[in-house]
Amino acid sequence: MLAALLLAAAAALAADLPAVPVVGVWLLLSLVALMRSPAPLAPPLPAVRPDPVAVPAGRDASQMIEALDFPVLLISQEEEILLQNQAALEVFGSLPDRAHISARLRAPGLLDMVREGLKTGHPQQKDYVERVPSARAYRVRVSPVGDGQFLIVFNDVSGLHRIDQMRTDFVANASHELRTPLASLRGFIETLQGPARADPKAQERFLGIMLDQVNRMSRLVDDLLSLSRLELKSHIAPGERVDLVPVLSHVRDSLMPLGESLGVTISLSVPDGPVIVPGDRDELVQVFENLVENACKYGQEGKSVAVELSSLAGGGAEVSVTDHGPGIEAEHVPRLTERFYRVNVEASRSKKGTGLGLAIVKHILTRHRARLLIQSEPGKGSRFTVRF
Ligand code: ADP
Repeated sequence: MLAALLLAAAAALAADLPAVPVVGVWLLLSLVALMRSPAPLAPPLPAVRPDPVAVPAGRDASQMIEALDFPVLLISQEEEILLQNQAALEVFGSLPDRAHISARLRAPGLLDMVREGLKTGHPQQKDYVERVPSARAYRVRVSPVGDGQFLIVFNDVSGLHRIDQMRTDFVANASHELRTPLASLRGFIETLQGPARADPKAQERFLGIMLDQVNRMSRLVDDLLSLSRLELKSHIAPGERVDLVPVLSHVRDSLMPLGESLGVTISLSVPDGPVIVPGDRDELVQVFENLVENACKYGQEGKSVAVELSSLAGGGAEVSVTDHGPGIEAEHVPRLTERFYRVNVEASRSKKGTGLGLAIVKHILTRHRARLLIQSEPGKGSRFTVRF
């Protein structure tokens, strides 16, 4: 009952509810239930406590430490390193016998944290970043293991740090992308309220620019929502079976007007029969619209874009989108699918780009278990290939 009370209180606290009324209501209900219950309470069960597992000392303990695939040090109360496992040797290098812990724990505060653990006998932990030989973040924990000995465990949390960093960068980028059109809108509104109040010509021109800025913000928000929806279902493989032939015809037809306005012809070559892949039709349309639109916009000077579909011998299929534009320098190619990565920010903005198109493409293709290959040579154009 006490446990249940504590659980109720904890649940209330976790849900941000005031604990006292919740526990009060629960107590009342429990009392009513107990008073109505005719059966006598069963005698309490004897507490079951598992026997402590016999941990072999000496050599065997060192074998257990050896078996761990993360760095572990066994140290004495006198601050000497008694043992370090293979993972520690690989990560930090070797040390002389019974070296002092300060030879290993050089980061500020780390030694103090360990000494605190040795002094109090209570586990302590601290995060730190190792810069050499490569940047890695560790959560270091010291805890007593008996006989005046302590274990120092290095838990590699670099992956978590990287995700945190990516999240921070993403929020900063998204805010920055929205801030620019917002600042421009504010400027135009102030001008319309002041100097341009009685100037219908200027008003018309400014309203046109304001509409462009609003459209830019909507495109950005649409793309952000698209990405977040895709992230939610990234682990669910799409269930439909989709024929790529009509998908690509639809994409070619829908982008024909854009091609014409840019002076680019879009050609499509497909095999005779259907080419079926497991997929989600709308998402695949989004992928190929993105690639063909990019090829028209960024490869405009090549004047033609070729979309080719072929069945692969092993049962898969491949779609390539080729343009003859300026191409992309090799150093940019691996980063093109990163969110907000653009070779030239101004060029992308002037072409109504958000910098999220290829990130969306990559997300959709990951869900489809398909791959995106990018081949490009400056001056010769680019080919984006999707392999199912
Ligand atoms: P954007 O919204 O800027 O078009 P994308 O994610 O679709 O964003 O593309 C990222 C960047 O990749 C573009 O800004 C452009 O620099 C480059 N890029 C994409 N496709 C091509 C292409 N066919 N030719 C040259 N550069 C391209």
